Amino acid sequence: MNILVINAGSSSLKYQLFDMDTESILAKGVCDRIGIDGHLKHTPVSGGKPVYDSDVPLPTHAEAINAVIEKLTSSEYGVIADLAEIDAVGHRVVHGGRKFSESVLIDEDVLAAIEECTLLAPLHVPANLTGVDACRKVMPGVPQAAVFDTAFHHTMPDYAYTYPIPYKYYEENDIKRYGFHGTSHRYVSARAIELLGAGAQGTKIVTCHLGNGSSLAAVKDGKCIDTTMGVTPLEGVPMGTRSGTVDPTLLDLISTIEGGITLRESLDILNKKSGVLGVSGVSSDFRDIEAAKLGGNDRARLALDLFNYQVAKHIGSFIAVMGGADALVFTAGIGENSPNTRKGICSFLGGAGIAIDESKNDVKGEYAEITGAGSSARVFIVPTDEELVIARDTKALVACKA
Ligand code: ADP
Repeated sequence: MNILVINAGSSSLKYQLFDMDTESILAKGVCDRIGIDGHLKHTPVSGGKPVYDSDVPLPTHAEAINAVIEKLTSSEYGVIADLAEIDAVGHRVVHGGRKFSESVLIDEDVLAAIEECTLLAPLHVPANLTGVDACRKVMPGVPQAAVFDTAFHHTMPDYAYTYPIPYKYYEENDIKRYGFHGTSHRYVSARAIELLGAGAQGTKIVTCHLGNGSSLAAVKDGKCIDTTMGVTPLEGVPMGTRSGTVDPTLLDLISTIEGGITLRESLDILNKKSGVLGVSGVSSDFRDIEAAKLGGNDRARLALDLFNYQVAKHIGSFIAVMGGADALVFTAGIGENSPNTRKGICSFLGGAGIAIDESKNDVKGEYAEITGAGSSARVFIVPTDEELVIARDTKALVACKA
């Protein structure tokens, strides 16, 4: 069974085609600058075909999907003979609101319910839906599934997800802490449970998804009981360009300081110009900031220290509320690739019993156990694989329906 996984953003569309009999990737790629001009990079993984990397006109997501199908089936770059070899499509959907606590097959009712989540993620949900629409047009009759970033966090207790604001906003407007990166937290926590080796029951795990966007989850008995992001991905730890949690009064203060800019413009500063970019003034990319720190830039040092400290603080609080931790897991771009960040975070966690082995920590982009001598929890690096989870869920849903 071949499953196409689609991650549609406002101007981009990433895809991976899986052969689910072997769980191997046949091809992957990305359409960029949709609606602007258009670029497609298509990488066949199996069969020794060449990479296609070129500008192509992509006025809408429908043309992007068509271009992807054309490449997947072409004699020069293709990995399948024709469209009929795609058995199902799995879509990443950023927000599932209060309704979706697990992945679902898409029908008209589901589409309408996803559309209702637009208020909660006005940029992401419409973009995800354009991907769904485009696939339904190009591949009518092929089952499509939605896999939600928020779903894994649905098991949080009410005292963890309720904001201390007038309750009517929850009751009438669905305002609560949802959390994001759920597919990643689910994948790496399940992997950690396997590594611990005695089933989910009784396990206490802290997962750290540290990438352009960063979030942490507390996973007890295999279920999420808390996470750092909120109703939007702005809450929680500092990120590449996002501030994470700050005093909300800052929105008003920034507006005044900037000569009366609107609330949305202030929010834009917290979303796009803050985090390690805002503090360092160098970049949102940890590679650039680490290089600047090495070159003696003290604001780069501060940005990294502040990030490590805030991540450690949240890890410590999750360990406290779970009554300990059996495993701490690092994943995503920074978590998998930055030994300095893992070391910096763990340097604040000695009091919580966490220790890493510096020589084992000296790895990038691969699975490793980096637990240090005497550590109260095992510490793992687990490369995340959200696309595989989407493909697995889609396969299971299609099998269920058959
Ligand atoms: P996204 O949230 O867009 O999926 P990723 O999980 O791919 O992001 O993370 C991308 C980030 O990972 C980069 O912006 C960079 O900060 C960080 N990163 C990637 N490689 C390294 C590295 N070798 N050292 C330090 N940071 C890295």
